[in-house]
Amino acid sequence: TLKTEAFVTLATNDRYAYGALALGQSLRNSATTRQLAVVVTAQVTQAMRRQLTMVYDHIQQVDPLDSHDTAHLALLARPELGITFSKIHCWTLTQYTKCVFLDADCLVIKNVDELFEREEFSAAPDVGWPDCFNSGVFVFRPSDETHRGLLQCAVTQGSFDGMVLQAFSDLILKQAMGLAIGRFGNDVRIVHFIGMAKPWLYSYNVNTGHLQPPEGIGSQHDEELIKRWWSILHLKSNQELN
Ligand code: UDP
Ligand code: MN
Repeated sequence: TLKTEAFVTLATNDRYAYGALALGQSLRNSATTRQLAVVVTAQVTQAMRRQLTMVYDHIQQVDPLDSHDTAHLALLARPELGITFSKIHCWTLTQYTKCVFLDADCLVIKNVDELFEREEFSAAPDVGWPDCFNSGVFVFRPSDETHRGLLQCAVTQGSFDGMVLQAFSDLILKQAMGLAIGRFGNDVRIVHFIGMAKPWLYSYNVNTGHLQPPEGIGSQHDEELIKRWWSILHLKSNQELN
């Protein structure tokens, strides 16, 4: 049954795809026994897809502006929901029985395969907003029916977090993954680089060890963790991102 479970991430452009590359490689480094799948949209270039296939078992393209039902049509009128919409498409990966979604700005530090023992819907509590949860890491079961329901919710709720809270409100309180997100020493298993200062926006010179925070944003994360992200990606500097 192991082959029917997968870690899933999402990238709607090449920048986030670099995040997906680092995440995927970090999962490989963690010696996961599960499949790795990445959901992409049309904007992700062929060159980037080739790189992704070196790390991921499966690349699935989704069309965020597919208009085959009323929920899709309603979303066409709400372009600001585009990214939310793409995350929902992860529920269409029905070749897998169970998935763990990770944002593309996550890095796995230690094996987290035990997350597959959790049920849909499990998520980590949000550090800054304890009553809510963080939609960057969650356990779900792909299902066309749930997919349709979530699209409907997205139209009425307008946000992924709010929508899933609504859709799964009866299940959420059962969960407390105890996932350390942030800098909690040796117990950290997943780092989630939330906010504007994504690792790929820093400049890092591997030869000098010089790390430059993103222009106009500043540093929002632990420097060692950013360097770790860069070392996993095996890129000399973010010049190569262009
Ligand atoms: N994402 C994407 N393209 C975008 C924005 C977001 O593919 O332009 C995906 C990506 O997987 C990302 C996730 O949606 O990690 C959530 O967005 P983000 O991580 O930027 O939000 P934060 O965690 O900072 O709240
Ligand atoms: Mn994120």
